[in-house]
Amino acid sequence: PDVAAKIAAGEVVERPASVVKELIENSIDAGATQIRVDLSHGGLQLIRITDNGCGIPPDELPLALTRHATSKVSIIDDLEHIHSLGFRGEALASIAAVAEVTLQSRPRALDQGSQLSAQNGQFSEVTAAASPEGTIITVRNLFSAVPARLKFIKSRNTEVSHCHHLLEQYALAYPEIRFNVFSDGRQIFATPGDGQLSSVLVEVYGLQIVEQMIPVHSEEQTDSTYPVITGYTSRPTAYKSNRQHISFFVNRRWVLSRMLTSAVEGAYHSLLLTGRHPIAVINIQIDPSVLDVNVHPAKTEIRFLKERRVYAAILRAVRAALLAEPE
Ligand code: ADP
Ligand code: MG
Repeated sequence: PDVAAKIAAGEVVERPASVVKELIENSIDAGATQIRVDLSHGGLQLIRITDNGCGIPPDELPLALTRHATSKVSIIDDLEHIHSLGFRGEALASIAAVAEVTLQSRPRALDQGSQLSAQNGQFSEVTAAASPEGTIITVRNLFSAVPARLKFIKSRNTEVSHCHHLLEQYALAYPEIRFNVFSDGRQIFATPGDGQLSSVLVEVYGLQIVEQMIPVHSEEQTDSTYPVITGYTSRPTAYKSNRQHISFFVNRRWVLSRMLTSAVEGAYHSLLLTGRHPIAVINIQIDPSVLDVNVHPAKTEIRFLKERRVYAAILRAVRAALLAEPE
């Protein structure tokens, strides 16, 4: 593949977990209710995502792997009102620039599936393939042709744990989806898909911690540009040694943000609960027109047009939860 494609790919595909993220988002966008993830050798040898989503018709398989081809944004105006996770149409093309990719898919309406492979930027013919309803994407030998990138990859276990953490986040954001994750053939994570955030919390943190968590919700808002906050936060009796156990989802998109973290911590500090790191899952529902999700291709960053409102809403909701249910 050409150098430009590889450079562009580097922005999206940093490590196995970045591939998993893009593929999972596509499965979610496709309406999947079950997603299975298989990893071999930390995802470097193989990443396979099997979903029961809407599938891809045979004639669209090559398009799915083509840069800037997306079925999700039809008119420019759509970019201000993004409801799907993907919209740039570059993830699959970027992955195909740095790995061997096989797409196998069958939309519900068709009784036969089809398949397409891509290697070094070359596409195979689309062929018929026995395929369950939904999509199976297999990514093999990630970065094997990009030694510069391979150098930065840590141990197999480190890569597995990055993937694991990421999948926990998506499971928290989508409790109605059943996730099943295998690493070298061993199941490492699974959720029931019963729609209950608390069920996912049990799988991520264990029952003992979940029993120490209390529900969070903001007061009712009439102005739609104010955020609606829901989720769980831990009683001061349950805590962690670092900040990595506070998860944020904005309109169900996983985001990392110092500002949001400090809003949660601010609630604890305001009650003189300092020195410990809470466990929390905070869902922020907000009018997409006051968001800028277009910040970075990897899309874990976010900008709010009214940042202080969001900060205040979270701080207030978490504080109210703590006050309502003291130890
Ligand atoms: P984007 O998600 O930004 O549209 P991608 O490169 O991630 O771009 O995917 C390209 C296209 O391939 C998507 O727009 C979608 O039409 C199709 N696609 C990818 N993965 C799936 C899937 N699991 N199920 C159904 N369609 C998919
Ligand atoms: Mg995508």
